[in-house]
Amino acid sequence: MARGKKIYEGKAKTLYEGPEPGTLIQYFKDDATAFNAEKKAVVDGKGVLNNRLSEFFMEGLNSVGVPNHFIKRLNMREQLIRQCEIVPLEVIVRNYAAGSMSKRLGIEEGTRLPRPIIEFSYKDDDLGDPLVPEEYIIAFGWASQQDMDDIVALALRVNDFMSGVMYGVGIKLIDFKIEIGRVWEGDFMRLIVADEISPDSCRLWDIESGQKLDKDVFRRDLGNLTDAYTEVARRLGVLPTNGPAANSTVIN
Ligand code: UDP
Repeated sequence: MARGKKIYEGKAKTLYEGPEPGTLIQYFKDDATAFNAEKKAVVDGKGVLNNRLSEFFMEGLNSVGVPNHFIKRLNMREQLIRQCEIVPLEVIVRNYAAGSMSKRLGIEEGTRLPRPIIEFSYKDDDLGDPLVPEEYIIAFGWASQQDMDDIVALALRVNDFMSGVMYGVGIKLIDFKIEIGRVWEGDFMRLIVADEISPDSCRLWDIESGQKLDKDVFRRDLGNLTDAYTEVARRLGVLPTNGPAANSTVIN
């Protein structure tokens, strides 16, 4: 489809002006990055899979009443989304210790946490997205106390939905990251889930084998990333019908 002006280019996605005011087109690239873009590669078919998977999760969230930016998928790599103002935070929800939490606290990866733990990083690539306490967020005006209460409630709802969906297909949701956007309806501001939800931003482990089915496969050189994402898509019944990812091998 004819695209509007490029608005923003990120590491894994590009945003273009949408057909109507207040809309954008989100294009999913095949680029994979890790460690604040120190490690880079092009992973054939990743963008197609993430476009589908993010559609699947956002539509599911929508159907259980969790507001988000997704409007509709346009083609293999593009989706129409609602334009919003991104709150400059990465909202991380953890059910099991892994990644930076395990490193920081010396807790073995895969240890069940006593309850879901939410943490926030300030979105700034130059600073390496530092972890920040809620007090900084409010003091620096990145979000208000009311926003933070709403963000925590949204994050927990996303966690319940995602954990349940994943459990249903034999996958443990270890942790994930979401981003939140502001939209205005007249004078009224609302917070919605934005960006993407995909194996790029979640940790997903097979319940039986513990096999990793997420971006750690790329970060830690554990195998073929497209195969891992294809497996997640296959289990969820979300497989593209043509395009690069359709032909890749499914791992069991
Ligand atoms: N995450 C993400 N983008 C980031 C940082 C983290 O999507 O810039 C996700 C990551 O995939 C994982 C969760 O957030 O599912 C927690 O990541 P963690 O803080 O453990 O950081 P990492 O070990 O990935 O550096």
